[in-house]
Amino acid sequence: MIPAAKPIIGDEEREAVDRVLRSGMLAQGPEVAAFEAEFSAHVGGRHCVAMNSGTSALHLGFIAAGVGPGDEVIVPSFSFAATANSVALAGATPIFADIDPATFNMDPDHVETLITKKTKAIMPVHLYGHIAAMDRYEEISNKYGVKIIEDAAQGHLASLNGRNAGEFGVVASFSFYPTKNMTAGEGGMVVTDDAEVARVLRLLRNQGQEIRYRNEIVGFNTRMTDIHAAIGRVQLRKLPGWTAQRQANAAYLDANLKGVIVPHVAPGTTHSYHQYTIRIPGGSAEKRDAFMAGLTERGVGSGVYYPTPIHRLPSFMLDLNLPQTELIIKECLSLPVHPSLSQADLETIVSAANEVAAAL
Ligand SMILES: *Cc1c(COP(=O)(O)O)cnc(C)c1O
Repeated sequence: MIPAAKPIIGDEEREAVDRVLRSGMLAQGPEVAAFEAEFSAHVGGRHCVAMNSGTSALHLGFIAAGVGPGDEVIVPSFSFAATANSVALAGATPIFADIDPATFNMDPDHVETLITKKTKAIMPVHLYGHIAAMDRYEEISNKYGVKIIEDAAQGHLASLNGRNAGEFGVVASFSFYPTKNMTAGEGGMVVTDDAEVARVLRLLRNQGQEIRYRNEIVGFNTRMTDIHAAIGRVQLRKLPGWTAQRQANAAYLDANLKGVIVPHVAPGTTHSYHQYTIRIPGGSAEKRDAFMAGLTERGVGSGVYYPTPIHRLPSFMLDLNLPQTELIIKECLSLPVHPSLSQADLETIVSAANEVAAAL
């Protein structure tokens, strides 16, 4: 079975962990500081603050950016639940926008219609590694005075006109969960161009203290350990090569898949293919699920990200009309694109998908 996703852990990661274990210093320390400095080089030299998860990075990012009770934050409903959870955890209200079915990302025209006096921020998600319409969000941000916060959990090295994900928002949050384009085991990184926001983030993640036992504010413990940072540093060095391999795999799939809609890449963007997500045309979840079952029979793993829009999850249960979101949840299917695929794997994926498409 070709897995839908596969973290790559090598000897260098094992040696890095061993080095930290031997040092006897396991909690946040020099490895975290080095990881933050090295990550900064990929986000235009912005301040980087490591956290124990992408969700913590989003949650504390909102607090540090001054988003809280009484504020509305516009988010896509077609995303992972953590996108909206982080808004709610900060005490603000998520307002769900529809998507552009071409890129699967939040639709800036719909976002503009949802802005009210309470709107404090908009949070685009760079879904599947396709950067959101950040040029449009910068216009909207200037026009209405709302903040941009990026959910860059899937956006490592995705770019628009030469600017990487993480270089647009007052804060941007990345995830290092094992299936993301790079991992630290678990972990997250908040990126900001504001030194004061960065200072508050460092306080919030460590019980509100910069100097031990001199707690300035009420804070959390969302620190990253040096063990995780050591893994993240090794993976970060490999990220550009892995991204290029994902792009080469996607190019092969683009050129050879038939009877399905392959991922769109908007002008000026670089897609980093966290997922390679096709559409099975027809607007039918049964047809998509049959396609998926056909792939499984042929030894090809695949995944539906995400089968339920966030606003309809039991945790939110809102009655909204988001027609493009409802269409895409029925048609989307993510094929393997990870960098450990061999040429033979790619050929298996293409022949399986084309056989299933021809038979449906
Ligand atoms: C993975 C992910 C998160 C959460 O990151 P964790 O590290 O798992 O907490 C948030 N938003 C999106 C879009 C994600 O894919």
